[in-house]
Amino acid sequence: MEEDGFVLVANKGEECCSLMNPTPEQHQEGPAGYLSEIGTFIDSLAEALWPLNRFIHDNPEIAFQEYKAHQALTDFMRSRQETWKVTPSAYGMETAWVAVYDSGKPGPAVSFNVEMDALPGLGHACGHNLIATASVAAGLATAALMRRHRLPGKVLLFGTPGEEGYRGGKIRLLEQGAYAGVDISLISHPGILHNSALVRTTAFARLEVTYFGRAAHAAKNPWEGINALDALVVAYTAVAALRQQTMPGDVIGLAITDGGGDATNAIHARAACVCALRAASAARLEQLVARVRGCFRGGAEATGARVEIILTPGYKDHVPNRVLAASYARCWNQLPDVPDPPMPSPPTCGAAEPQFARIASSTDQGDVSYAVPSVNASFAIPPGPRGGQPHSADFAIASGTREAFERALRVGKALAGTAVDVLTKEGLLEEVKAQWKRDMEDAKNPSPS
Ligand SMILES: [Zn+2]
Ligand SMILES: [Zn+2]
Repeated sequence: MEEDGFVLVANKGEECCSLMNPTPEQHQEGPAGYLSEIGTFIDSLAEALWPLNRFIHDNPEIAFQEYKAHQALTDFMRSRQETWKVTPSAYGMETAWVAVYDSGKPGPAVSFNVEMDALPGLGHACGHNLIATASVAAGLATAALMRRHRLPGKVLLFGTPGEEGYRGGKIRLLEQGAYAGVDISLISHPGILHNSALVRTTAFARLEVTYFGRAAHAAKNPWEGINALDALVVAYTAVAALRQQTMPGDVIGLAITDGGGDATNAIHARAACVCALRAASAARLEQLVARVRGCFRGGAEATGARVEIILTPGYKDHVPNRVLAASYARCWNQLPDVPDPPMPSPPTCGAAEPQFARIASSTDQGDVSYAVPSVNASFAIPPGPRGGQPHSADFAIASGTREAFERALRVGKALAGTAVDVLTKEGLLEEVKAQWKRDMEDAKNPSPS
């Protein structure tokens, strides 16, 4: 996931809930001091996590080939004193894994996703080593608190391969039922611009389009040919015309991958393109895909070529759960040394105008957010020498520093604080789930909010 195109957007107010605007008593986070206990615990882990963070950073592996990271992370989880049940190569993927801490008493199941993959040729230019660090720290701290205070429930850490690209590992985990029985899913993502618990990303899909015509000599008997390149050009023009009437947030990218060859004296028998589509929501994306498909069919109709359209569903938009986000923001602001930039206010009953961070890129955590309540917290790390954003060589340097690591630990503390809130605050999980149901109803509306 990248963080380019970031803007803060105030959204329409929603129904209030008591726990989003806690009373002073509720602010005392259950038995007071859970958060400071989490802080102390994660600080004590720092020297064990730093080499792990560096190892992942210095051994970048691309999507679904995170063999070294998989080994290092599962070894680390096995080495912990809390009794974690660690399953390597889980859910039919060599580099997916799951670690479960079960209190033995029925209660909420809280989960954290651990991303591991890097970018081809760019190393950890998306900082997924920091995501891994934050989630592992959070998972361990949550389990430690559960053990010490005999809290019911369980913690799951999912090693989720292949976030970069368009066939996310989390989607495969969802298909395999990994999140069945999971109550919440927490994750984070580094950037350089902002700290936010209310992150919205775009929905993304990809069309591979091929036209099949009939070859003929372009001078002797062109009337016997069917020009596949003409079909593609007509479709390209139709898509270009459609671009005027798209909705805010819609993005249509086209690349011609087969122009039919170099010959000018032949009717081109084959032509192909790839089309990448983004929209503010999965519902809107469905509409956009239908419109663009129509353009491609139009090229075929106009020329008599046959068209083959292969749709690769990409990622859904991320719908942040604002009840969980409020908990995360409270923890973030209660931890000492709050870094810049300040986190936008969490949603409250009075203001009722949550500020979403809209990020013009996509993540498979979006698909998870349609299955279980989710937070994908953005956090700012000190920029590299050139101030480069994610997916730049500069950000790959920035994500390997000790300062970035310390920031990830801070995120881990706030994520653990959120999970412990869910485990300890009566009625909070019900509030979270009620909000998620409202969000899923809203998500059926394709108009951008
Ligand atoms: Zn990325
Ligand atoms: Zn990323």
